[in-house]
Amino acid sequence: MRGLMMDRPLLISSLIQYAAEYHGDTEIVTRTVEGPIHRYTYADAHARAKRLANALVRLGIGMSDRVATIGWNTYRHFELYYGISGIGAVMHTLNPRLFPDQLRYMVNHAEDKLVFLDLTFVPLAEKMAPLWPTVKHYIVLTDRAHMPPTALPNVLCYEELLAAEEAAFAWPLFDENTASSLCYTSGTTGNPKGSMYTHRSTVLHSMAACTANAIGLSVEDCVLPIVPMFHVNAWGTPYSAAFAGAKQVLPGTKLDGASICELIENEGVTIGLGVPTVWLGCLQYLEQTGKKLDTMKRVLSGGSAVPISMIKAFAEKHGVEFLQGWGMTEMSPLGTVSRLKHKHRLLDKDSQHAVRARQGIPICLVDCKVVSFDGKIAPHDGETRGELHVRGPWIVAGYYKDEPATKAALDSEGWFKTGDVVVIDPEGYVQIVDRSKDVIKSGGEWISSIDVENAVMAHPDVAEAAVIGLPHPKWDERPLLIVVKKPGREPQGSELLDFLSNKLAKWQLPDEVVFVAEIPHGGTGKILKTRLREMFREHRLPTA
Ligand code: ADP
Repeated sequence: MRGLMMDRPLLISSLIQYAAEYHGDTEIVTRTVEGPIHRYTYADAHARAKRLANALVRLGIGMSDRVATIGWNTYRHFELYYGISGIGAVMHTLNPRLFPDQLRYMVNHAEDKLVFLDLTFVPLAEKMAPLWPTVKHYIVLTDRAHMPPTALPNVLCYEELLAAEEAAFAWPLFDENTASSLCYTSGTTGNPKGSMYTHRSTVLHSMAACTANAIGLSVEDCVLPIVPMFHVNAWGTPYSAAFAGAKQVLPGTKLDGASICELIENEGVTIGLGVPTVWLGCLQYLEQTGKKLDTMKRVLSGGSAVPISMIKAFAEKHGVEFLQGWGMTEMSPLGTVSRLKHKHRLLDKDSQHAVRARQGIPICLVDCKVVSFDGKIAPHDGETRGELHVRGPWIVAGYYKDEPATKAALDSEGWFKTGDVVVIDPEGYVQIVDRSKDVIKSGGEWISSIDVENAVMAHPDVAEAAVIGLPHPKWDERPLLIVVKKPGREPQGSELLDFLSNKLAKWQLPDEVVFVAEIPHGGTGKILKTRLREMFREHRLPTA
């Protein structure tokens, strides 16, 4: 027997309609690319998204056409999220930090018809335009007064485009499995691969993100997504914030500690989302100025492992609950969040921090299995390692127009192979041991580069650290520890190894410590281990 419930499609346009109707006076505050702070409301955003919808139709954009954006976190980019997907077209967020060859590939592969771009990216687009033959118009996200002189072909001014349209538009109803947005992963090898989200996957992911087990976003909150809108849709915040009716603060181009902390203080931010590097910048700023984060309740950090020292500093110096999330572009991205369980309230503070330093418990509807290296399903014993495979309603079923990559990404039962090596402990917490390609294989044992990095990050003189495996005649590979010192500090290699000696087993200790001025980061803020391996290709360990 079938049930008797309404079959309403889950559509992205419902989110902005809801926010405008019931949270119409709730603010969206932006530090604009032009400079000043801009404020408006969900009602204003909705009206402008409808003008944009009219403009897109006038420019010939229809169902399933791909429309690219290269933009910072701003109110105009927020409008694009709704205007484009709302009419049934596909919002393709381009990550400007990727290499020109990847940008060339992505726009051609997606066959984007329009490119909306911030002022900052006009020079980039000018260089790329001859390589992007599918693009019919470039629309600069600014007003007439700020339009730059540009060699871009068929260039339009965003504010003029909107001003010419009516704010009346009826969002169309269509199948919830219609493609809504497209995001390519910045694979370090091979071509980028496209995750094509649907309206259904996006709405379900927003609902899950708002639950108290995940980000816990509600109408009481003011959320600051520092993670860029060009990186997995700012972890879904443009959608989940509207779902919750939460106030939003969008930081534009300024992501340094001082600018972020200023926004937090002035706007009463309660929840922030960003990668560990950004939070490190904030902590350093707070340390230097002696300022506090009075309004902040919670931080969600993800994208790479969070050192426990950071969790401790936020909790104990600023009273901020510092959560870690794990996920991937292919997972929209939320997979796990390191929430404490009820029983953990009895633990002492350090033990609580240790729970939060794990990647977390899977969110309901994200199914996880750990496949050990002999192909068996690993038990949740906190010890047996294997590759994490996942499935769920906001996880990709394949890559856009890429049969070989799709085949390689799915296991025989159709689960998505994450490439992360993990253990799951008896309490259900997933702990990332490493990327499968980054683990160091030393004499039949595996050394987790993440474990060593986390341990050394607790040293007061270390600003950043990375560990890679270098060839070794006896052990196959042995770890090299690469460290950036904190300004004004002069730690010695031997001192750091001493510091690690009571935190790691003897065979896990790096064979050598080298100091560098900077560690290279990729387009999404992650340490570029491939670059480090290239930089140290000729390097010989003293033990080799
Ligand atoms: P994002 O960086 O937004 O999470 P990507 O698709 O660029 O998405 O990268 C996903 C990969 O990032 C994961 O497979 C994992 O290796 C790594 N990652 C994400 N979150 C964490 C985390 N909390 N701890 C360790 N690694 C993480």
